[in-house]
Amino acid sequence: MTLTVEEARELVLGRCGILEPEEVPLLEALDRVLAEDVRSDIDVAPFDNSAMDGYAVRTGDVADASADAPVTLEVISHIAAGDHSDLEVGPGQAARIMTGAPLPPGADAVIKVEETEAGENDGSTGGTARMLRSAKLGQNIRRRGEEVRAGDVVLAAGDVVGPAAVGLLASTGHARVLVHRRPRVAVLSTGDELVDVTEVPGPGKIRNSNSYSISAQVIAAGGVPLRYPPVADDLDATREAFARAATEADFIVTSGGVSVGDFDYVGPVLKELGELEFSKVAMRPGNPQTMGSIEGVPFFGLPGNPSSGFVGFEIFVRPALRRMQGHSRLDRPRHQAILAHDVKKRQGRRYYLRALLEKAENGSYVVGISGSQSSALLTAAHKGNCLLVLPEGEGAFSAGSDVEVIRLDMEEGIA
Ligand code: AMP
Ligand code: MG
Repeated sequence: MTLTVEEARELVLGRCGILEPEEVPLLEALDRVLAEDVRSDIDVAPFDNSAMDGYAVRTGDVADASADAPVTLEVISHIAAGDHSDLEVGPGQAARIMTGAPLPPGADAVIKVEETEAGENDGSTGGTARMLRSAKLGQNIRRRGEEVRAGDVVLAAGDVVGPAAVGLLASTGHARVLVHRRPRVAVLSTGDELVDVTEVPGPGKIRNSNSYSISAQVIAAGGVPLRYPPVADDLDATREAFARAATEADFIVTSGGVSVGDFDYVGPVLKELGELEFSKVAMRPGNPQTMGSIEGVPFFGLPGNPSSGFVGFEIFVRPALRRMQGHSRLDRPRHQAILAHDVKKRQGRRYYLRALLEKAENGSYVVGISGSQSSALLTAAHKGNCLLVLPEGEGAFSAGSDVEVIRLDMEEGIA
């Protein structure tokens, strides 16, 4: 039975549970998903502090200050970032203060240095400074606890740890955090024709490029690839390799051996060792996308043709690996674009053309194929940045019509 892409995707995601959490050093949490709510051990900021280099003043003293009628204040202290002063700023007094330095008692506003003039002793301790402006209560003061209060949740379970989150975790005292584990993904390529990348292929042979491209896609999706030696087109060898992978990996992805060729053993072995969920999806390239599980380990069989595998991974395996890592956003951004040239398609399958999306001078997005669409070739996928999606029905799409694209140059986000 041939499934729609959506039906197939549902089945894949249904087999992929979120992996258990692990504790990692803070920087290793980047791009991963928090497995628990994280609270702050302190108020951030820990104290009221100045947002500017200037003078900490009492607003009442400078109510009538202006450039024409400056108010001269006695400077009682000089507080740098990292210092602190308990000396109270009394009436007629000011403290010279730097950005990030704690506000001294008595002061209720900061006037930035550009709105002042140095007086005696160059405006430093023991001297004077002239205020050229009045100040609003609380002006240029960053309040204690403005970011988060001690004991409050600063980041929630399910939040993705981006660079800003790393900063928040650091300021709240978390050198290690609990995030969902990265899936270990067995990458197996089947085919008697495969030789290693280091070899020059002999007659009838080709280099095992899928092992690398698929592993690269695993890494890009946040997984850890376990590259296995190529599997011969042989029942026993296939059985043995799959059984081993099921004991070592959280997810198994294979390439090749899923068509109706005489030596295509992926489906039969999957049925024998585990369960075969589906083996055909109404899409092009790559209709023999195969899904199942062995000993509860999700299994995805990609077609051997490089761009069929590339697209199959993108549509099915990548969202599955993201789900296992706890991500809730599983879809790359999609939007409308204007077709740059005519395209024809046949009835029955959804097309995912490897295409290049560009922004025209008038601001509109224009998309066209980025090279030959042969499923054996990868250049169009390399030169492109999106998949141009054409719906299942038969169709002739003329240049200028509206089409949908899936952005491969952007992370999953709002769909
Ligand atoms: P298959 O799906 O096994 O019928 O293979 C389809 C096509 O993809 C054949 O032309 C294979 O030679 C090619 N192919 C299969 N496996 C790989 C691989 N690991 N790397 C590159 N091409 C492959
Ligand atoms: Mg093969």
